[in-house]
Amino acid sequence: MKRVLEGVSDRLRLLKSCWRCNECWLGDEKVSLPCPPSNYYGYYSYSAGGRIIATEALLEGLISLKDISHLMYKCTLCGACAEICKNENIGGELKLIDFFEELRAEIVREGVHPPKYGELAERVEKNKNPYNGSPENKDALKGEATGRRRGCDVVYFVGCTSTFRRKEIAEATIKLLRRLNIDFTLLGSDEWCCGSPLFRTGFKRIAAKLARHNVLEIKKRKPSKVIFSCAGCYKTFKQDYPNIIGEEMDFEMQHISQFLSNKLSGSLINKVKVTVTYHDPCHLGRQLGVFNEPRDVLMKTADKLVEMKRNRNFSFCCGFGAGVRFAHEKLARRTASSRLAEAVETGADALVSTCPFCKTAFLEAGGNSEIKIYDLTEFVLKAITNKQ
Ligand code: SF4
Ligand code: SF4
Repeated sequence: MKRVLEGVSDRLRLLKSCWRCNECWLGDEKVSLPCPPSNYYGYYSYSAGGRIIATEALLEGLISLKDISHLMYKCTLCGACAEICKNENIGGELKLIDFFEELRAEIVREGVHPPKYGELAERVEKNKNPYNGSPENKDALKGEATGRRRGCDVVYFVGCTSTFRRKEIAEATIKLLRRLNIDFTLLGSDEWCCGSPLFRTGFKRIAAKLARHNVLEIKKRKPSKVIFSCAGCYKTFKQDYPNIIGEEMDFEMQHISQFLSNKLSGSLINKVKVTVTYHDPCHLGRQLGVFNEPRDVLMKTADKLVEMKRNRNFSFCCGFGAGVRFAHEKLARRTASSRLAEAVETGADALVSTCPFCKTAFLEAGGNSEIKIYDLTEFVLKAITNKQ
């Protein structure tokens, strides 16, 4: 307990300034019900304000890390609370999402995390991916890369979900890169999990090992740019890796939506005759500020783009991130269903996102019946192959 106090007690002043205004639970004039777990469980305790009260009690020695462990893991770290909170101490200075992650790391150090997450961390450490997949699957995709040299201008970091669960996204990305005549390579079995599931669930020591390995392998290929089709991998490289690697990450990083927004030209495309709506993944949108490029790509490739009620920085989470789908399936699925219903409400023919995990969420919530579900890469490929 003493270490926890040393680690986060400086935040007590900030925590105590919470207004208990409930907006992180119920919303405000701009957005309603922004927090997935407090919607699902129906209690203030699951909102940021509730978590703040629990943390104050922890820092004052009234409860233990073990007491708040279950609460802290029922949060998708979506960041909607930080966006909506108008209290500068909480929404700004405290850096709510980093703070929640730090608490998880303390819970792990204390060994009072839910056992399932310990099993996940062991699995990632052993197999270098969270799905018990074989590294050869990553090598199989490598054969599709255009770059035959070891040194290549672009590395496409595929990510575990697109390798083992949503292979169609990896395949679409590879086809697009080939179509655009990009000299690119893949790391194959040298690509390890980016570490996102471990950074989010508090297993930072193992995550740091993965980060060091990935950066070393990328640097061996001397690319000027690394491209990601997974919002989670991209956020992890952009926001977590620099804390571990420091200044040695001398390559540019781009999400595929940013890359395509620069590269797509009218002559390549025949617009797909459908109306689409776009779901901002929390990692890419709210947390990295990438809102315009995916929309730009959709405006170039679809007939019409319509927005859901909650969009951009006030977008609603798909419910699957930060280890929630792994251990709290009902909470994850209910959240995904509610977001899917919002997409259906727009009247769009297709729901497009830019993260393999979001796509999985919408498919598991029953998408593709009332509305077609696509990753942006698949949708763009449709527009390009339409041309032939
Ligand atoms: S965290 Fe912010 S929005 Fe939530 S109750 Fe406190 S002051 Fe209000
Ligand atoms: S990060 Fe998202 S899920 Fe977690 S408390 Fe904030 S709004 Fe709720």
